[in-house]
Amino acid sequence: MSDLVFYYHSKLPCAAFRILETRIKEHGEHEITSTFDEFRVDQYALADSTTSRIVAIDFDNTITADPEFYMSLIDAYREGDWEPVICTLRGDMDDNLQEIRGKLHDEGIRIYTTDGRKKRAFMLHQGISVGLWIDDYFPGIIQLGSPLLLRNGIEY
Ligand SMILES: [Mg+2]
Repeated sequence: MSDLVFYYHSKLPCAAFRILETRIKEHGEHEITSTFDEFRVDQYALADSTTSRIVAIDFDNTITADPEFYMSLIDAYREGDWEPVICTLRGDMDDNLQEIRGKLHDEGIRIYTTDGRKKRAFMLHQGISVGLWIDDYFPGIIQLGSPLLLRNGIEY
């Protein structure tokens, strides 16, 4: 699997994005655009907290779009002292958790299941700020029109 188009357009610097950018360049088949085009973009990298070391990665149509790439990205984040976690709109049924861990070959990664709730509010409610979101579906993170989307170049 290959040829994913990643969107990134943050008005503030985001150190976590540099790791993703490096991994995309090393990988060689995916690309990055700063142009918001829902018909072209496959995955959105949205900068959020400037101090958090957490990178929240979606599962369906994000990790599953190229599991090998994401496994290597997760390793790269850990090597750089970031904590990659999974944040999915799925519910917390054991089957879901096992499927995610199995796909990643990773028993240790933290998995947050929001059961359909907006991810950013869900994580903040757990006391967790996220430095970078990687997701194919940005409306799952936060409601349309929010300052976070504007700050990432998404005007809705
Ligand atoms: Mg998804």
